[in-house]
Amino acid sequence: MDVKSVATVCIIHNQKINYRMSIINENFLKLQNNYLFSEINKRVNEYLKENPDAKLIRMGIGDVTQPISKAALKGMHDAVDRLSSADTMVGYGPEQGYADLRSAIAEYDFKARGVEISPDEVFISDGAKSDTANIVDLFSNEVKIAITDPVYPVYVDSNVISGRVGSYQEGKWSEIVYLPCNAENKFVPALPEKHVNLIYLCFPNNPTGAVLTKEQLKRWVDYALKEKAIILYDAAYVAFIREEGIPHSIFEIEGAKECAIEFRSYSKTAGFTGVRCGYTVVPKELKVKASSGEDVALHGMWKRRQTTKFNGASFISQQGALAIYTEEGRKEIRETVDYYLNNAKMISDVMSDLGFEVYGAQNSPYVWIKVPEGQTSWSFFDYLLREKNLITTPGVGFGPEGEGYIRFSSFGDAESVKAAMERLKQD
Ligand code: PLP
Repeated sequence: MDVKSVATVCIIHNQKINYRMSIINENFLKLQNNYLFSEINKRVNEYLKENPDAKLIRMGIGDVTQPISKAALKGMHDAVDRLSSADTMVGYGPEQGYADLRSAIAEYDFKARGVEISPDEVFISDGAKSDTANIVDLFSNEVKIAITDPVYPVYVDSNVISGRVGSYQEGKWSEIVYLPCNAENKFVPALPEKHVNLIYLCFPNNPTGAVLTKEQLKRWVDYALKEKAIILYDAAYVAFIREEGIPHSIFEIEGAKECAIEFRSYSKTAGFTGVRCGYTVVPKELKVKASSGEDVALHGMWKRRQTTKFNGASFISQQGALAIYTEEGRKEIRETVDYYLNNAKMISDVMSDLGFEVYGAQNSPYVWIKVPEGQTSWSFFDYLLREKNLITTPGVGFGPEGEGYIRFSSFGDAESVKAAMERLKQD
């Protein structure tokens, strides 16, 4: 008899006991963040109903628009061709990814920056969203979590689903330690005032566009080592760093291999939002004490998790990712990132000239803008939608500290960004 019928029998045979066992994970019912994107769509659709001819320019969602590098395309075409013959076709690949891609990552993304990462510490995946969400499987429900505010909503929601965030009150979860990032602290979070076990950091940051210097990141690594905390470091936007001296990986900081996991993505680096490929680095030195007192390596746990719940990223996307590490591939993806950075600069320059407080844009595809005095994130979003026909993202959707800000994404094509800026310049 399955659980559903047990619950039904109890209700039929004993009317007095109103026993109805839930068979769903009710944490899903607590999720809040659908609100942001459904609300944006609702407002856009309402406006379009009233103004069907409006020429909207979308600068909200962080999705890429430019073609994928020729080298990556060739890698994928060749992979498809290999599938056409019994002699060369491949079936299931290793869950952790193909050895040649893992080696290329260790060589170009880490060794080239002076960091020794062994290829078997690299786990290829279908992107950073899955990995940053799935990593929660490794931790107990008692962990105390610190999350920067504003933040990429996946970190919060994956913990809501696993039931570790307490109750939702005035825009915040009672069991999460929020680390406010605002203009006063230049969007660099202060260390938590109370002990935490897990810390989510994302730099270059979505949505604020902030980056950390080596000294600033070192403070976090030192804190994590002292507190025996683990840093979950999301470097999805690393390809946008252009300033000298900004660390590209947390593993550039001494001691980080004992306290950090790093997530990377080809989505924004190489236009793979639709192709899907990314990776996570779990160093073998990263160990935590189990309740028995035994030291447990998270590397082994993640490997077990992936081999159980994941069957590997697509062969085609991995071959595309591998081709990015050729000389031609590296040049092409840098050019595309430069293109988006030019868009970001265009937005930043125009908005600054118009008198706005502007953040991000320099090492990031996002431009984070303070809304005018007296406006909220949503009222300014409405103004831009209705008066300028521009779709942006209200900062408050990323967390309470985002109230009073709006995020522009620079992933559009340059002509649209230029047209959007012209509209803003007109009274
Ligand atoms: N991490 C951050 C901070 C992001 O902003 C995004 C996408 O917008 C992701 C991860 C997701 O990356 P992927 O496309 O690799 O799943």
